[in-house]
Amino acid sequence: MSLSEQLFEKAKTLIPGGVNSPVRAFRAVGGNPLFIKSAKGPYIFDEDGNRYIELINSWGPMILGHAFEPVEEAIREAIRHSFSFGAPTRKEVEMAELIVEMVPSVEMVRMVNSGTEATMAAIRVARGFTGRDKIIKFEGCYHGHGDSFLIAAGSGAITMGTPDSPGVTRATALDTLTAPYNNLAAVEQLIQANANQVAAVILEPVVGNMGCVLPEPGFLQGLRDLCDRYDILLIFDEVMTGFRLAKGGAQERFGIRPDLTTMGKIIGGGMPVGAYGGRKEIMEVVSPVGPVYQAGTLSGNPIAMSAGLAMLRYLNGHPEVYTRLEEIGSRLVGGFRQTLEKLGLNFTINHLGSMYTLFMTDRPVSDFAHAKTCDLPLFGRYFNAMLRRGVYLAPSQFESLFLSVALTDDLVDQVIQANEESLKEVL
Ligand SMILES: *Cc1c(COP(=O)(O)O)cnc(C)c1O
Repeated sequence: MSLSEQLFEKAKTLIPGGVNSPVRAFRAVGGNPLFIKSAKGPYIFDEDGNRYIELINSWGPMILGHAFEPVEEAIREAIRHSFSFGAPTRKEVEMAELIVEMVPSVEMVRMVNSGTEATMAAIRVARGFTGRDKIIKFEGCYHGHGDSFLIAAGSGAITMGTPDSPGVTRATALDTLTAPYNNLAAVEQLIQANANQVAAVILEPVVGNMGCVLPEPGFLQGLRDLCDRYDILLIFDEVMTGFRLAKGGAQERFGIRPDLTTMGKIIGGGMPVGAYGGRKEIMEVVSPVGPVYQAGTLSGNPIAMSAGLAMLRYLNGHPEVYTRLEEIGSRLVGGFRQTLEKLGLNFTINHLGSMYTLFMTDRPVSDFAHAKTCDLPLFGRYFNAMLRRGVYLAPSQFESLFLSVALTDDLVDQVIQANEESLKEVL
């Protein structure tokens, strides 16, 4: 038995499913999860000493490659001054200032400890601000594991086959309305059927959590217009897309201003951090200025802020990172498309910048219903074939891959080669 297998056997006796987040268990693809020992630059290493090219990158945060030196330095420096105060610090002010500078719609921001916390807080704020109870989300979008979002949720919730989790009360579920992604008419119908009851529309402006799905032209603007017409807050969940699709996230890339934005992943540089922010008049309903309560003992933690600040400062000061991410994404997806053509395959690749998904279906994928037409057993075989060739993919068809600038052209070409060999092997 490999060390990963031994650790997994033991972990299963101590931790539900042996993992602290469900998708890590490899259930959707079969096989044994790798237990990771270390990572550097474009590579991740497991307990057995195997090396893999990284295309998950901690689900996004490692956009500059693993253990990026300026972030590592910032953490080292911060540690010398103790690890937590539970009191305000200079770094939180600097962090807020930088986020406001980078993210177009954000005028005021509150730090939390995860993306889940950010989305939970954002809808509470939207409800407090509007005095309405209901929210609209999209099928296949994932907004963390808050009760209100485990309705037609994406990511691990799809993979586990439990889109509607037991433990979420019926009352909570009734306040979450769902529409198919890219379907403006469905959203308008929901708004009209629930007149003056909808507080917010929340979405991933580019979806990562049913695989990568792009907003069709006019969809984001259409939502903006609907929200304006009916006094509903538009929330962009940019936990994945923030600081990735552009330094100001999808909202910068598409030129649409949401009322509230949720952030996570990259914002912590690999530490557990989230944030929500938006227009000042909305954010001022948050306690202690306003009546909407939200708090956190470790929120704005100095070590996490130092890592996040170093990450965001680097991204803000190095626009060439985004140019390079575009090049890497185009090279990789271009190579994949050539392979598909060569092999006479019609599979769909959705791609934007440094996010992509190869969907094992001939149908275009513009929403969750189409994503579900994929051949999942085939994806499982493909995943394992890639792993044997040293490429570490997300262990589910319903995930985006996240590229980092640590990928050289040569490594991208190795991934393209592995992809071709793997497809040939499993078809
Ligand atoms: C990952 C993710 C979340 C949840 O963030 P956690 O830090 O895992 O709680 C929320 N929304 C989106 C879009 C995500 O990708």
